Amino acid sequence: MRSLSVPFVLFPLVLLLTTGAGGVAAGEPPPDPLLHRHLCAPDPVYSLKEGEVLIPILMYHFVGRETLERDGHSLSRFNVTAADLEAQLLLLQRLGYHPVTVGEIAAALEGKATLPDRPIALTFDDGWREQYDVAFPILRRYGIRATFFVSTSFIGYPRFMTWEELAEMRDAGMEIASHGRKHVDLAEADDREAWREIAGSREVLEEKLGVSAVSFAYPYNAYRKGLPALLERAGYQVAVGGGGGPVQRPERRYYLRRMEVNGLQPLWTLVSRLPWRGAGTSLCLPEVEGAQ
Ligand SMILES: [Zn+2]
Repeated sequence: MRSLSVPFVLFPLVLLLTTGAGGVAAGEPPPDPLLHRHLCAPDPVYSLKEGEVLIPILMYHFVGRETLERDGHSLSRFNVTAADLEAQLLLLQRLGYHPVTVGEIAAALEGKATLPDRPIALTFDDGWREQYDVAFPILRRYGIRATFFVSTSFIGYPRFMTWEELAEMRDAGMEIASHGRKHVDLAEADDREAWREIAGSREVLEEKLGVSAVSFAYPYNAYRKGLPALLERAGYQVAVGGGGGPVQRPERRYYLRRMEVNGLQPLWTLVSRLPWRGAGTSLCLPEVEGAQ
């Protein structure tokens, strides 16, 4: 059923991307005018301080369910359907974004690597098994490498990915990184417990996958003073939390900001938060803009 719904959700976007807003043929649904308006608006202007860089980092949790509920409460905002994920990736590709891993951002912030034009990072938290079943094949189809933050103690349990699956994703170029061992709120944990989570999970990733994790995602995006020192001592070069926009500050490499992709919101809301949009590209031809 899931795959059947894809063409219907993708159709308006594909129509917009292939024809622009002006080229709607008789009998076809019109493209989303809000999407076009945000897509073809001028890029936002940021007053960056010295050393600050623009790198949007998107945060996903569940992928591929139609709805998500727990204890009678809707958690659908944490779920992005397969069709929506595909529409997002298609759009990012058409906008000229170049996906990078969080580890690559770390190297760039340290001056050891140069990022491509219009960099963006896609991150998936917690290790849910749909990330392998649904997101991984889509990412592969688009040739996109992403970062998967897993809580190592959950791997292999029902509803979570297995080590074999993570190894397959690692071999396909995905970054497998740490989200602690047991998804503990580190803002509430003392240094001893935080160290077990931070260093312990890194050891497990090394042992099970042979990777030296450089990236960490705070469970619940919970942060407190003292955690960067522990992360650095354990061998991490970068950590991500929540909190919003695409402006990243090198001196805060142990709390890079991420944008949550809210599964209940339409595509234009994601576009409205991106630093680079479609103005000047074939998606927004002058005659189409003039017709608005
Ligand atoms: Zn989490």
